Amino acid sequence: MKSDNFQSPDYFAIDDLLTDEQKLIRSTVRKWVKNEISPIIEEAAQNAKFPKQLLKGMGDIGAFGCYIPEEYGGGGMDQISYGLIMQEIERGDSGIRSTASVQTSLVMYPILKFGTEEQRQKYLPRLASSELVGCFGLTEPDHGSDPGSMRTNFKDMGDHYLLNGSKMWISNAPFADIAIVWAKNEEGRVYGLIVERGMEGFSTPETHNKWSLRTSATGELIFDNVKVPKENLLPNKSGLSAPLQCLDSARYGIAWGVIGAAMDCYDTALRYAKERIQFDKPIAGTQLQQKKLAEMITEITKAQLLCWRLGILRNEGKATSAQISMAKRNNVKMALDIAREARQILGAMGISGEYSIMRHMMNLESVITYEGTHDIHLLITGMDITGIPAFK
Ligand SMILES: Cc1cc2nc3c(=O)[nH]c(=O)nc-3n(C[C@H](O)[C@H](O)[C@H](O)COP(=O)(O)OP(=O)(O)OC[C@H]3O[C@@H](n4cnc5c(N)ncnc54)[C@H](O)[C@@H]3O)c2cc1C
Repeated sequence: MKSDNFQSPDYFAIDDLLTDEQKLIRSTVRKWVKNEISPIIEEAAQNAKFPKQLLKGMGDIGAFGCYIPEEYGGGGMDQISYGLIMQEIERGDSGIRSTASVQTSLVMYPILKFGTEEQRQKYLPRLASSELVGCFGLTEPDHGSDPGSMRTNFKDMGDHYLLNGSKMWISNAPFADIAIVWAKNEEGRVYGLIVERGMEGFSTPETHNKWSLRTSATGELIFDNVKVPKENLLPNKSGLSAPLQCLDSARYGIAWGVIGAAMDCYDTALRYAKERIQFDKPIAGTQLQQKKLAEMITEITKAQLLCWRLGILRNEGKATSAQISMAKRNNVKMALDIAREARQILGAMGISGEYSIMRHMMNLESVITYEGTHDIHLLITGMDITGIPAFK
């Protein structure tokens, strides 16, 4: 079995800013990742298979619904704890973190915020424990960055709704028990619907041939005259701002998560550079490799501070969507750049599955695109500071 020698960098003593409870949560998840993810993740990625055996453990460590109130089975944790959990899981693998993000922010959160009390009681405790797994369907084959133009729609048939359309690139879709599906009613207003596996006309074909996020199962959601019971509509919010509010929560988790991937790449590259001898000295003693490593730790430190501050703002209910966009965009690019540089420090070994770097690097190519692309988040910052939307 491969050993996991990860040492977490903390160059600016940011640990001093964390509470004892936050540190305890982090160390519990870190240990779980070392014991459960690290030993199996390379094979899962090589075989492009989601390791379903991790689901129960993720429920046990509180990765599903960390900040959902305890009365619904959630962890009742604060936003920094949520971020730290995402960071630790993504240190193991972005695909596994994706499952936790989707379950917490894109499935449990909309049920909590926009659902009825009956829906909360029915679904949230079972999602928290991993008895049920969910997915989130917003993207369509012809509508990615512009989900407001979606075509998936539902009609009021009196005693039920009739749902038609399709969604694409949906994480967890191939095995999810429920899907939160965003669709337009006859007036063109967007609502969320809870669609359950087994409903007639609902299918979830898997998307194959991915070179990225290979441990995450991705698929389509196809609705062919699906009869959805009326009690499955999320009634408490309509319009595109409903799914966008869910994405705020998920993007915040991503901003933290990718720090985990970056730390793993940095830690691996630093250790390798100190051990690898060329021209009779460790490559860590050369200026070129020190430049790479020094820039990595600088960028990781900046990202850690950005996320910590954003977490405080989220805890106080003050973080804006534009601030979350900035953090997601900055941190994913930071992690991807670090993965690419770290891969080079390892030379040929950098492309080998013996090390985690190439897997992180390929994963981050999805993370920089999903939940709003790198370009779109820049345009959100641009709109925020100028007041002029450039993407419309
Ligand atoms: C592995 C994976 C998992 C995913 N999981 C989910 C999921 O669970 N649920 C879900 O709903 N979706 C999911 N997605 C979809 C993801 O959110 C979309 O891929 C993303 O929103 C971008 O949409 P698109 O791929 O259609 O690209 P497009 O919108 O077609 O964009 C293509 C390019 O054009 C650029 N662009 C678009 N509009 C503009 C503009 N106005 N100005 C300048 N540039 C522009 C983009 O930045 C991008 O570079 C997933 C994607 C991947 C890869």
